[in-house]
Amino acid sequence: MSVLQDRFGRAFPYLRLSVIEACNFHCSYCLPDGFHARAGRPMPLTREEIARLLRGFASVGLRKLRLTGGEPSLRRDLPEIIASAAAVGSIDSIALTTNGTLLDRRVARWRQAGLTNLNISVDALERERFHAITGHDRLDEILRGIELAQGLGFKAIKLNAVLLKGLNDDLLPQWFDYLRERDVTVRFIELMRTGDNLAYFERHHLRAETLEANLQATGWQLLQRAPDAGPAREYAHPDFAGRIGVIAPYSNDFCAGCNRLRVTHTGDLRLCLFGNVGIPLRPWLQDDADCDRLAAALQAQLGLKAIGHRLHEGETGLVPNLSTIGG
Ligand code: SAM
Ligand code: SF4
Repeated sequence: MSVLQDRFGRAFPYLRLSVIEACNFHCSYCLPDGFHARAGRPMPLTREEIARLLRGFASVGLRKLRLTGGEPSLRRDLPEIIASAAAVGSIDSIALTTNGTLLDRRVARWRQAGLTNLNISVDALERERFHAITGHDRLDEILRGIELAQGLGFKAIKLNAVLLKGLNDDLLPQWFDYLRERDVTVRFIELMRTGDNLAYFERHHLRAETLEANLQATGWQLLQRAPDAGPAREYAHPDFAGRIGVIAPYSNDFCAGCNRLRVTHTGDLRLCLFGNVGIPLRPWLQDDADCDRLAAALQAQLGLKAIGHRLHEGETGLVPNLSTIGG
């Protein structure tokens, strides 16, 4: 089997697929005014199109899939989408990134369908702050959903929190309390600048180094990175069952280990979260017989992938906010 590779020798076994654009939250850094459907927008990929897409990617080495959005749990057919990923047979890790609102009601079904990994966004462990950041007073039910998920045998459960100066950067003690007994990882993500959030970014961006200095001062130790690890720098502490990961997209080595491609909810390939390059894959998703042509198109596109993003220069690419492509 050929494995997708770019000009710089990087291989791409990892796909992040957005299955829906809509979201029910109003996260202040992402969709502060909520999601508004625009008339005439193309429909999201159907379940059948997604199944063909996954088979095509699997034929060129897909091993790790992340379903994201918008809010992927808003898709009623999410269990069937997960099952079609599991049916491919060669995808070792099927992950979901969710805001957690339907977790307590649906997580058992997702697990049964074949979901192996779960990432839940929890920007603050304090009810009022959570409400202020996301627009929803639902922290308690989300935490209940996480407890429930912990009993279901997932390979890993990770919580994501975007680091926000003045909004949640003083809440480390709450996280320490949470992680003392719980075997979960919380990953702090440095706020990324997108087309829509320039003024917000100026006000609330906090460098990940500031947090890491704080962690090191309180005894957290940086773990050696596994060769196939993602972009997070992971910390552990002998007094805590949980771990802390830090994702710093502005750090110099962030792109060197890039192993992921993205596909939007309408089937457009994106070579980089912040890039300007990508083609519609939908034409090759209409017929099972087009699998080889899809694989060839992917190989050809990889030749165009750049060595790194240009976020430092203010280049945010095609992305107005991360709900359009899934973060
Ligand atoms: N709705 C789901 C959720 O919130 O988990 C999935 C989609 S969301 C776009 C995926 C991840 O991107 C979330 O963890 C979210 O916090 C993060 N995110 C969104 N906008 C961001 C930004 N501007 N900078 C850093 N992370 C961001
Ligand atoms: Fe929705 Fe996720 Fe964006 Fe929040 S971060 S508005 S939950 S897509």
